[in-house]
Amino acid sequence: MPPLWKDEFEIMRGERSDECRLFQEFSQVHSFSFLRVRATYVVRQKRGMPIYVEENFFGSKQYRSGEVGFLYDVAVVGAGPAGNWVSYLLSRQGFEVLVLEEHKDIGLPIHCTGVVGNDLFEEFDVPKDACLRELNRFKVFSPSLESFCIPADIQAYVIDRYAFDNLLAKKSKAAGTTYILQAKALDVTTYEDRVRIEVDCDGESRFFSAKLCVLATGSMSNLPYRHGIGMPNYFLKTAQTEADLEGLPDVEVYLGEEIAPGSFAWSVPSCHHQARIGVITKGNAKTYLERLLQSTFLRDRIKSPNYKIRCSRVPIGVPKRTMAGRVIGVGDAASQVKSTTGGGIYYGMIGAQILADTIMRSASNGDFGLSKLKSYDTLWKQRLGTELKTGVYLRHLFENVDDDYLDGIFRLMSQSNIQQIISHKGDFNKHKDLILSLARVPEIRKVVLELARRNLPFMKKRKSKVVPIRDEHFLEVS
Ligand SMILES: Cc1cc2nc3c(=O)[nH]c(=O)nc-3n(C[C@H](O)[C@H](O)[C@H](O)COP(=O)(O)OP(=O)(O)OC[C@H]3O[C@@H](n4cnc5c(N)ncnc54)[C@H](O)[C@@H]3O)c2cc1C
Repeated sequence: MPPLWKDEFEIMRGERSDECRLFQEFSQVHSFSFLRVRATYVVRQKRGMPIYVEENFFGSKQYRSGEVGFLYDVAVVGAGPAGNWVSYLLSRQGFEVLVLEEHKDIGLPIHCTGVVGNDLFEEFDVPKDACLRELNRFKVFSPSLESFCIPADIQAYVIDRYAFDNLLAKKSKAAGTTYILQAKALDVTTYEDRVRIEVDCDGESRFFSAKLCVLATGSMSNLPYRHGIGMPNYFLKTAQTEADLEGLPDVEVYLGEEIAPGSFAWSVPSCHHQARIGVITKGNAKTYLERLLQSTFLRDRIKSPNYKIRCSRVPIGVPKRTMAGRVIGVGDAASQVKSTTGGGIYYGMIGAQILADTIMRSASNGDFGLSKLKSYDTLWKQRLGTELKTGVYLRHLFENVDDDYLDGIFRLMSQSNIQQIISHKGDFNKHKDLILSLARVPEIRKVVLELARRNLPFMKKRKSKVVPIRDEHFLEVS
C-alpha cells in the first residue's frame, strides 16, 4: 500500500474546493483507528491553513484545522534542555524538525536551581554565557548544625536557566528547527508510517504530522506515561524559592528529619545577594521548605520575607521503556535524572545526544527503521543506568534514618581518611564510584549493612526482625 501521506498531499495541492475528499478510509489503513475516524475531508482553507472534518462511524463530525500538508521528520514536544538539544543535533544534520512548546516563553517558568558541573560545557558544544557564577565549595550541615566542606576541585556553576534554555533554542533555530510556542501537545496517535500530534495552539485545535515524535516534556507532563514510556520508580516532590540571603559564599546543603526526611535541602548563591533555596523529599516539600526558611540555618539571614514558592517533582529510577513505536521519551520525560541529587540537565542532554545519534543511524537508508531505533533504550541505559540504580539504592538506605543516626554518619564522614576519598573520587555528575569506594571503608560498610537491613526491601525479607540502630556503630570508629 502506498504511504497514506503522499496521497493526501497530492490531492491537497490539486484541489482547493470545498468538500474534496482527501483521505482514504482510515479503517482500511489502520485497523485500530476505525472506531475513531472513518474518513477525513478538507472542507475549506483558512488563511492558508486547511480546515477539515473528521467523521466517525456514527456519522458525527468534528471540524479541525492543521498543517495536513507537511510531514516533519521529527516533532519534538517540549523546549527544555533535552528537547532543544535533540532538535539542534537533528536539524544540523538536515532533518526537518518541529519543536512544540506549551509556554509563550522558552525557559519559563523556572523550577530548577541550575547547578551544573563543568563537564556539561566540556562534553557539549555550549558556551558558558548563561553561567551566573562558579561554585567553589559545598558545605554540608548535619541535623545538629555540624558541618564539613566538599572540596573545591569539583568544579560547578550556577546557571540562569532562562538564558540557558534560550541559548540552546537559538542554536537549534539557527540550525533550521521550526519552533511553535503556546502549542500544547494533547495527544499523539501513532500510524504505521508516522505520528499525528493533536495540539492546542493558543485555544485553537491543530494537528501536526511527523515520522517520529520525541517527548521532551519534563517531569510534570503525563503524556509520556500515557504511551507507557518513561515511568520512573517514583517521584520526589520539590519546592524552591528565591530570596535575598546574606552570608552565603558557598552552596549549603542541609540534612535532617525536620527539613528533608531521607533527603536534603539546599541554598545556592545565584547573583548579588540572591539565593535559590529548596527542598527535595518524599513528603510535602512546600511545608518542609517553609520550615527550613524559619529554621536556625536561615531565619536570621533572609532579608526578603516575601518569597514565592514553586513546587515541582523529580522522577527517580530507571524506567522499563523509553520508546513505544514512533514515540520516544528523552530528558526528565525518560527519567534521565541523577537519582542522588535530582539534577537532570546534564543527563537529559546525554539522553538527547544518544537519541539524536540513534535517529541519524536509523534514518541512514531514508526511512526511520524502528528496529534500529530500539537501540536507543539500551544505549542510554548502558551509559546512565548503573548510576541511576546506585542512586536509588542510596536513597532507599537513607529513607528512615533518624537525626541521631544521621549525626553519627556525619561524624564518620568528617574524618580525614573519608574526606580524602570524597576529594579523590568525588565527581559532580557521576556518583557511583564515590559511593562504592566509601562502602569499602570498614566503618562505613558496617553502617551501610545496618541501614540495608532496615531499609532495603530485599534485605528485610531475609531478616524479618528489625534490628535497632545502636550508637556503638559509631563508637567503634577511631
Ligand atoms: C526544584 C528543582 C531543582 C532542580 N535543580 C537542578 C539543578 O540544580 N541541576 C540540574 O541539573 N537539574 C536540576 N533540576 C532538574 C532539571 O530542572 C531537569 O532535569 C531539567 O529541566 C530537565 O530538562 P527537560 O528538557 O527534560 O525538561 P524541562 O526542562 O522540564 O522542559 C520540558 C518542556 O516541555 C514543555 N512541555 C511539557 N508538556 C508539554 C506539552 N504537552 N506540550 C508542549 N510543551 C510541553 C514544558 O513547558 C517545558 O518547557 C531541578 C529540578 C527541580 C524541580
